[in-house]
Amino acid sequence: MKKWFLLLFMLAGLSGCKTVHVTGRKQFNFIPNSQIFPASFTQYRQFLNEHPVSDNKTQQERIRRIGKRLVKAVEMYYHSKGWDDDLKGYQWEFNLVKDSTKNAFCMPGGKVVYFEGLLDVTQTDGEIAAVMGHEIAHALANHGAERMSQMYAQNLGAILTMLATANAPREEQEKWLAIYGYGSSLGIILPYSRKHESEADKIGQILMALAGYDPMSAMRVWVKMARMGGQQPPEFLSTHPSHERRMANLKKWAPEARRIAESFGINPTKK
Ligand SMILES: [Zn+2]
Repeated sequence: MKKWFLLLFMLAGLSGCKTVHVTGRKQFNFIPNSQIFPASFTQYRQFLNEHPVSDNKTQQERIRRIGKRLVKAVEMYYHSKGWDDDLKGYQWEFNLVKDSTKNAFCMPGGKVVYFEGLLDVTQTDGEIAAVMGHEIAHALANHGAERMSQMYAQNLGAILTMLATANAPREEQEKWLAIYGYGSSLGIILPYSRKHESEADKIGQILMALAGYDPMSAMRVWVKMARMGGQQPPEFLSTHPSHERRMANLKKWAPEARRIAESFGINPTKK
């Protein structure tokens, strides 16, 4: 029984190592897009049934126009690198939703939701492109599938711990499971999420520059967020990097994003 689990664990590990384009980071992900996209598309339709799209035609068109520019940039960039296969199955869609929440997300397969409330913070096209670029980057880097893969592995780890301590007294087993659970959520899951946020910041900034937007607009979004204040959990326990860390990184990475855009003859100056 133990051997069978170990073998499964090793197989998942071997077959599940992929590389995130743009950053080159190795990721543990054994769930193919073909398995995730259909569920994602269904969930998106459900979400839109429950959250009506904005009545503001001008802003709705604006969100879709900026989205289209970003998709064009993604396709051009991926084509130039020979990564076209990675975009298979994507069905890009952008909707501004009537909701005062300050948020946006992109579901696996390119389904984007932008909440009206976020337009209070992101006022320029460049700032909107910064947020959208970030969300699109999460989808392109398959962060959802990676987290799911980690969760499967984590459950498998808990089972293995249980089996390894099968002969130990019950209290002992429970103690080990508690330690394992604590270690794996703080040590594996959370730092990975922070890594995902930083990675999405980095890729998103390149994408927005390739779409012609000033990569420094990404930093300005976080300057505004920080000014708005609000409760921010300490970085150690948060799934998001602190505003300060984010602003510093985006400032540092902007010249590289600009250089990449310029190498394609694009002048990323739209604010
Ligand atoms: Zn994010």
